Amino acid sequence: MAMNRRTFMGTAAAVSATLTTPMIARAHMAPRVVVVGGGAGGATAAKYIARDSEGAIDVTLIEPTRSYYTCFFSNLYIGGFYDFDDLGHTYGSLASSYGINVVHDWAVAVDRDAKTVRLAGGASVPYDRLVLSPGIDFIDGSVPGWSVAAQNKMPHSYKGGSQTQLLRAQIEAMPEGGTFAMVAPPNPYRCPPGPYERISMVAHYLKNNNPTAKILVADPKEGFSKQGLFEDGWERHYPGMITRIGPDFGGDIVEVDPDNMTLTIDGVVENVDVCNVIPGQQAGLIAHAADITDGNWAPVSAYDLSSRMDENIHVLGDAAAQGAMPKSGFSANSQAKVCANAVVAALTDGRAFPPRFANTCWSLIDTEDGIKVGATYEASDEGIVSTSSFVSQVGETDEVRAETYRESLGWYSAITEDMFA
Ligand SMILES: Cc1cc2nc3c(=O)[nH]c(=O)nc-3n(C[C@H](O)[C@H](O)[C@H](O)COP(=O)(O)OP(=O)(O)OC[C@H]3O[C@@H](n4cnc5c(N)ncnc54)[C@H](O)[C@@H]3O)c2cc1C
Repeated sequence: MAMNRRTFMGTAAAVSATLTTPMIARAHMAPRVVVVGGGAGGATAAKYIARDSEGAIDVTLIEPTRSYYTCFFSNLYIGGFYDFDDLGHTYGSLASSYGINVVHDWAVAVDRDAKTVRLAGGASVPYDRLVLSPGIDFIDGSVPGWSVAAQNKMPHSYKGGSQTQLLRAQIEAMPEGGTFAMVAPPNPYRCPPGPYERISMVAHYLKNNNPTAKILVADPKEGFSKQGLFEDGWERHYPGMITRIGPDFGGDIVEVDPDNMTLTIDGVVENVDVCNVIPGQQAGLIAHAADITDGNWAPVSAYDLSSRMDENIHVLGDAAAQGAMPKSGFSANSQAKVCANAVVAALTDGRAFPPRFANTCWSLIDTEDGIKVGATYEASDEGIVSTSSFVSQVGETDEVRAETYRESLGWYSAITEDMFA
């Protein structure tokens, strides 16, 4: 029986559940693109490849979760500015409007010679081009005393979903005058301003609900994204509440004990009530399984995001070592469109446009006090390079900051629609 896209979708789910069929066969000759990871990079790439090839390419999207909860704006949920449900997005439109085969399973291995992806459910999915956008995984041992086994006691909240809810619940349960601690990550990591926007949102919550509470940040980095803007905002909105200990004072020599809820900074033991550990990061594990990383990240060409180790594999978003773009949802979405254009052109003899990229990272410091940093980029042989940039300034008027915040709300609606609708 010939399979159409709908029957494949149902079949794939059934196959992965029963483990009886070793290979998912497709009964037609359209080129096949398999996308692993239905986040900012993967969902966008799958949609644009399916849409722009007008059915000439078979697109399969492999993503374990049925609802994708964005990390972007998860800090606003912690601060009370956004509802948790508003962070969740589903894959129904990608399947029904664009004919994408959405398979809810984990990709566990890539056979680059056979050009197949093996799923946890046992099925094997063939591809002509493979797009990997698996985001990040954590580096074992990067924070002594912490492992993913301890993530319920000391949440990272650096992947979307239940970890975000857990962190917020722990902050709500803090005793009066208690201590919220963060272990900030070393470079490079997902969303450079993310930890500092989180500090701002935790401070906002505590100012209103537990005003004698304290925030302690151990940071291995000398400096961080939008530092002057954040520190100015913390001084104006949350004076005396936030202490950041950088590497000069041992912020890079930390250890945690999740059972006893302690954070040790350069030998000094602190008792803490909540400890948000954001460990060192690397490309999602499937990129390592495909053996296309430099040990941490997957080096790619800036022109089409193809792996420097396998021209039939493209890597997008956080997992890629692409040059100058920060690891952000906006970057992943922008890279996905360049990649989609190149893949469609290559597989359908179509036209590829010169690659152009853009990114803006907005952060909220307090009510209507929004800041941003952004840049435009182009491709070079060495990697993606910046062509122009902008950043908010200390001392801007309340109206400018409110407008920046409103811009960010518009961006969130637009990017999630671009990914999923
Ligand atoms: C607190 C916080 C705030 C942020 N704020 C912003 C912001 O304001 N603006 C912004 O632009 N960015 C922001 N980001 C960064 C943004 O979330 C990431 O950069 C972006 O999601 C990266 O997209 P991606 O496609 O690489 O990975 P993801 O969006 O994480 O998607 C990866 C997907 O792959 C799936 N996956 C992983 N492994 C496998 C596998 N083996 N098989 C199948 N599927 C797999 C996962 O389930 C996931 O759905 C923030 C991040 C955090 C943590």
